[in-house]
Amino acid sequence: MPANRSFDLAVIGAGIVGLGCVLAAAKLGKRVLVIERDAQANGASVRNFGFITVTGQERGAMWRRARRSAEVWAEVAADASIPVLHRGLLMAVRRPESVAVLEAFLRTEMGADCRLLDADDVLRQHPEAATPELLAALWSPHELRVESRAAIPRLAAWLHERHGVTFLRETAALDVATSRIMTSRGEVAAEAIAVCPGDDLFSLFPEQIAAHGVTRCKLQMLRLADPGFRLSAGVMSDLGLARYAGYSELPEAQALRARLEAEQPAHLEHGVHLIVVQSDDGSLVVGDSHHYAPTPDPFAHEAVDRLILDEFKTVFGREAPRVVERWTGTYASARDRPIVVDTPAPGVRLVMVTTGAGASTGFALGEEVVLDLFEGATP
Ligand SMILES: Cc1cc2nc3c(=O)[nH]c(=O)nc-3n(C[C@H](O)[C@H](O)[C@H](O)COP(=O)(O)OP(=O)(O)OC[C@H]3O[C@@H](n4cnc5c(N)ncnc54)[C@H](O)[C@@H]3O)c2cc1C
Repeated sequence: MPANRSFDLAVIGAGIVGLGCVLAAAKLGKRVLVIERDAQANGASVRNFGFITVTGQERGAMWRRARRSAEVWAEVAADASIPVLHRGLLMAVRRPESVAVLEAFLRTEMGADCRLLDADDVLRQHPEAATPELLAALWSPHELRVESRAAIPRLAAWLHERHGVTFLRETAALDVATSRIMTSRGEVAAEAIAVCPGDDLFSLFPEQIAAHGVTRCKLQMLRLADPGFRLSAGVMSDLGLARYAGYSELPEAQALRARLEAEQPAHLEHGVHLIVVQSDDGSLVVGDSHHYAPTPDPFAHEAVDRLILDEFKTVFGREAPRVVERWTGTYASARDRPIVVDTPAPGVRLVMVTTGAGASTGFALGEEVVLDLFEGATP
C-alpha cells in the first residue's frame, strides 16, 4: 500500500483501456493510482496482435478514436522506447466482390490517404503477398504494429517513471463506491474512479455490465516461424472485409458476404479471418477466430487453427511455416455497441471496449473518459 492513500484518479485494470485513462489523466497533472490484480499484464492487451488498426474500424466515432489512438501510440512509442515494428495495412483480395467493397470504401471519408493497388503494384511493392489469385489490394498508411507482450509492460513502466503513476499490483478491487475503493490490501480514496475490467464481467458492477448485453469472445492465435521474408505491413484478406464494420456495413459488402458463405462457410462459422503481422525476430503472429460465450472453453481447437493456416496458405501462396506458439485470448463483446461507458455511481465510470479494437481505440477512449470525469479540465 502506498503511504499516501488519496489520489485524483484511481484506475482499476492495467490493460490498454485502463492505461489509456491513466495517460490522459497523467497529462493533466493528476495523481493517478492503478489497481491490478495480476502480477503483470496477462489479459487481452498482451494476447493481441499489437496491431493498431484504423482502416476497417466502424465508421464514425470508432474510426475517429482509432485515428486519434494511432497518433498517441506514435508519440508514446517514441517517448517510451517502444519499437514500432511495421506500419500500414495491406488488404490483399482475390474476388471481384471484394474489389467492389474496397472501391466503395475509398469513396468514403475513411478512405483518406488510402490507395487501391493492382496486382502489378502489389508485386513491386509487397512481393510477399503477390499470388496468381490476387486481384487487388487496399493500402492504408495509418496502422502501426507493436509487440504487445513487451509494449504494455514498457508503457506501464514509462507511466510510472515519467508521470509518477503509482501501480498497486497483485491487488484486487473488491468494492467501488464514490471516491472509495475497497481492495484486497485495504481502502484507498480517489476523487474519480475508472473501472476498466476488460472481460471480467462478474466482479464489479455485474448488473450494469449485463444490462449492456456484454458477453465474451474467445480467439485462437498462432506464432509461426520466420517465413524468410519481411512483411512491409500487416496483411489481411477478403474475410476481413466481412468482419470489420468499416467495410462490412457498406452495401457493397452484401454480395461478398453471399460469396464467402458459399465458398468459405467453415471460416465464417468459426469467425475466422486473417491478420498477419511480423515480430522483430521475423516470426509471424497469425490469427484469428471468434467464439462467443459468457465463459468460453479455454482450449485451442486444431480444426480452427487449420482454417486460419489454410487462409494463410491461400493469401501467401505457400505453406505456412512451422507453428512455434499457440494461445487463446478473450475480450468483452457486445452485439450492438463497440464500447460501454457507464456511471454506476457519481464520479465512477465503467469503461469497456466491447469489440476487438481496444488496442486501436483505448488511448482516445481514455481521453474522453478523463475529460468527462474532470469536467472543465483542458487537455
Ligand atoms: C487474441 C486477441 C487479438 C486481438 N487483436 C487486436 C488487435 O489487433 N487490435 C486491437 O485494437 N485490438 C485487438 N484485440 C482486442 C484488444 O486486445 C482488447 O480490446 C483490449 O486489450 C482490452 O483492453 P482492456 O484493458 O479492457 O482489457 P485487459 O487487457 O483484459 O485488461 C483488464 C485488466 O483488468 C484487470 N482487472 C479486472 N478486474 C479487476 C479487479 N476487480 N481488480 C483488479 N484488477 C482487475 C485484469 O486483471 C486485467 O489485467 C484483440 C484481443 C484478443 C484477445
